Formats: sequence, structure tokens, C-alpha cells
Amino acid sequence: MRHFNVVVLGAGGVGKSALTVRFVQDVFLENYDPTIEEAYRRILDIDGVKTSLEVLDTAGAEQFTALKELYIKSGQGFVLVFSLTQEASLRELDNLRQQIHRVKGMDSDVPIVVVGTKLDLVTEREVARSTIQCLVALWKIPFYETSAKRDWHINDVFQELVKQMLIR
Ligand code: GDP
Ligand code: MG
Repeated sequence: MRHFNVVVLGAGGVGKSALTVRFVQDVFLENYDPTIEEAYRRILDIDGVKTSLEVLDTAGAEQFTALKELYIKSGQGFVLVFSLTQEASLRELDNLRQQIHRVKGMDSDVPIVVVGTKLDLVTEREVARSTIQCLVALWKIPFYETSAKRDWHINDVFQELVKQMLIR
């Protein structure tokens, strides 16, 4: 069985932990400690092919720390998370994407998926689908809108990432 390290990155409060915990434990945590940084394991079966994933749910400092550089070095796939209900969290993504490319090498083809969270909070939505679609088309990165609360499209994110990692 192949094993991959996945790193979940994004601004504070966007729902990284909710997404990760929904994926690995299939529950929704309303109030997850924002300072907890933890690695979880899950085996994902895609069309009969099993892959072991270690998913690192990052937390804390937004700036580029040595620790973050270490995470990026050890990661083979990245989930870049922003909240559909918070326009500012989208701007953080480009920084993260550039940090990944800086650490991994500018012309390396790194498996990344972009995730917009809290799709269920329809009336609080701030980011239009067309806005993100322009960005991800430019970056050539797959994009999913999810809800950890309702369990919408969570598995799709990790399946897409695994497919990308398997062909590297
Ligand atoms: P993190 O700091 O990025 O790890 O964010 P958390 O996972 O701790 O989530 C921050 C807040 O957003 C918490 O109150 C969560 O309950 C809430 N949240 C996360 N995902 C969702 C979602 O899909 N839907 C809704 N309604 N709330 C969410
Ligand atoms: Mg968290």
C-alpha cells in the first residue's frame, strides 16, 4: 500500500480541523480547539486501490515559520483551505501556494487541491463561485466547495488529491 503525507493549510477559523476530522472520523466538531495541531491517519479506497494517508491539520501562526517550512517539506499533497463566508481567507491562499512552490522548487508539479468551506452557510457567503473559478483556472488547481457540517464533498477532496499523488 502506498503511503502519503497530506498537509492541510489555511487561515485560522476557516474550518481546517472540521474538514480533517470529518474526513478521518466522520463527525462534525462544532468547537474544535483552534490551537490543536495534529496528524490523523486514514486508509482511503479508490476503486479498490487502498492508500494510507497521514493528514496534518495545521494551526496557529499565519506567517512563514521554520516549522511551516518543515511541514511543507514533508508534505506530498496539500489541501489549501479558505472559507466561502470570508473573502479575506481567499487572499491567504496565494501566499500559501507561493510558499509551497518556494519550498518544493518553482517548477515542481505539486499535488494541491483548493477547498472553499462552509457551503451550508448560504446566507453568509462572501465569495462568488466565478471569483474562485478564475483563480483556480489560472493556477491549474482543482477546486471543491464543501461542508464539513453536512458532509458535502469532503471525500472528493482527498480522492482528487490521492489521484494526483499516485501519478507523481
Ligand atoms: P480551523 O481554525 O481552520 O481549524 O477552523 P475550525 O475547523 O476550528 O472551524 C472554525 C469554526 O467554523 C468552528 O466553529 C466550526 O464549527 C465552523 N465550521 C467549520 N466547518 C464548517 C462547515 O462546514 N459549516 C459550518 N456551518 N460551520 C463550520
Ligand atoms: Mg484547527
